[in-house]
Amino acid sequence: MLDADFFRRWVAATAASVDREAERLTALDSAIGDADHGSNMQRGFKAVTAALEKEAPETPGAILMLAGRQLISTVGGASGPLYGTLLRRTGKALGDAAEVTEAQLAEALRAGVEGVMVLGGAAPGDKTMVDALVPAVDALGDGFAAARTAAEEGALATVPLQARKGRASYLGERSIGHQDPGATSSALLIAGLAEASG
Ligand code: ADP
Ligand code: MG
Ligand code: MG
Repeated sequence: MLDADFFRRWVAATAASVDREAERLTALDSAIGDADHGSNMQRGFKAVTAALEKEAPETPGAILMLAGRQLISTVGGASGPLYGTLLRRTGKALGDAAEVTEAQLAEALRAGVEGVMVLGGAAPGDKTMVDALVPAVDALGDGFAAARTAAEEGALATVPLQARKGRASYLGERSIGHQDPGATSSALLIAGLAEASG
């Protein structure tokens, strides 16, 4: 079973890897966006970390909903509302249980990713975070390590795609040949699950 401590470890692992990889995320965004994805994510996860310390929510659902609210209110840009929706929807789907199964988390994350797709209008293949998140959720039945691999492969697979959503889509064909920053940060989020469990 996955308890509140697992979810705190997940958020902490993601905050740490976002910190470590912030320069890389910003470099990816400088190629096909406006060079702020690393700092956006860093600011967001700092606020999440501070809010979790201050408010100390006690259930998995409450932890993710608080994290999502913080991302929406502190991350400017497209990714804030999208990541915020992902975590809030996932948290809401977990309800107020003190512990959840991996299968319940997989189902909740699927609801979260569907929320991202509705809000942003992106489908797989549009060169967005959806390209890492959908394969990750599909692989979750095989465990967190499999989901991590699927997310990383999904992020890599954005390189040859032409962006059809977000700022990178303004570049048209010139977006081809670059890895999507949001898919890359989504792979960090999913990798955090494997880190939290191992
Ligand atoms: P901004 O583009 O506003 O500067 P960020 O740089 O923080 O925001 O985030 C950019 C990332 O957001 C992109 O790499 C992409 O993965 C994701 N993104 C942008 N628009 C959408 C969308 N409509 N649906 C899903 N993801 C999106
Ligand atoms: Mg940007
Ligand atoms: Mg921006």
